[in-house]
Amino acid sequence: MRTVSVINQKGGVGKTTTTVNLGAAMAQSGCRTCLVDLDPQAHLSLHLGIRADDDTTTVYDLLLDPTLDAREALVQVEPNLSVLPAETDLVAAESDLASEADKHLRLRKVFEQFQDFDVIMLDCPPSLGVLTLNALAASSEVLVPMQAHFLALQGVGKLLETVGMVGRGVNPTLRVGAIALCMHEGHTTLAREVVEDLHTFLDNARDSGMPWSGCRLLEPPVRRNVKLAEAPSFGQSIFAYDSSCNGANDYRRLAMSVLAMWALQPNNTPAMNEGRLEDDAAANVAGDDH
Ligand code: ADP
Ligand code: MG
Repeated sequence: MRTVSVINQKGGVGKTTTTVNLGAAMAQSGCRTCLVDLDPQAHLSLHLGIRADDDTTTVYDLLLDPTLDAREALVQVEPNLSVLPAETDLVAAESDLASEADKHLRLRKVFEQFQDFDVIMLDCPPSLGVLTLNALAASSEVLVPMQAHFLALQGVGKLLETVGMVGRGVNPTLRVGAIALCMHEGHTTLAREVVEDLHTFLDNARDSGMPWSGCRLLEPPVRRNVKLAEAPSFGQSIFAYDSSCNGANDYRRLAMSVLAMWALQPNNTPAMNEGRLEDDAAANVAGDDH
């Protein structure tokens, strides 16, 4: 099983769109896939037409009590594609869990019940608080969606460093695996230059021993495509909404490259009981929503 945290501290970069559609593409290629909505905005749940109410068991309930039956909370939205939904009460998790000794390991515990999936993808909030740390502790790797604009390079270096360092505090085997370019405008000189710079940056990090030293820039970039922005209002993945548009084709090809990358790498999704939380330094990392 591969467990992927989709992370970027910036909002609006394509995290939710990528989690939904990359996950849906993997499901279509035969992977039993689970999407976890870890953002209190609940955009992933809404994108897939799930409106959780007070009677729904959500990720918040499971974080507070990991012994609840997590499989009952799953909503199947397409063949091979299930969702662990959120609602806006998830925002309270931060303070509700604050004084719990195992506050970063709750999700990992929940995932013990999810042995039947090949892939779990987590849509993380744009901050490095308790929710994201739960995601990092439970993940084998991090996927960073970003846009190729001119501040991207400064941002991405810092982001990979922070996520890598913080992540390893709760999960020593965490790998900052890949970057996906979203809303890409490949015809612009700026985007081309940023992509070139990104390649150089990642090449220079090779063999550095840092958590992001094996980070790959995934192909292809996902082009800007209005269908991807329309699909959420219909509560559908891009494949249910318009399976032949550029957005669907790009996410399909992106899924193929992720699966090809995984075929070449060892799998290190953490299991509960192995890899203890060594120190709690990460507990003090403040949220940062820019
Ligand atoms: P995040 O989860 O990082 O905040 P979203 O995935 O919600 O970002 O994307 C931000 C906005 O951009 C959303 O309205 C989404 O529909 C739109 N969007 C994302 N990817 C694309 C794309 N490739 N082309 C066009 N619009 C996109
Ligand atoms: Mg989002």
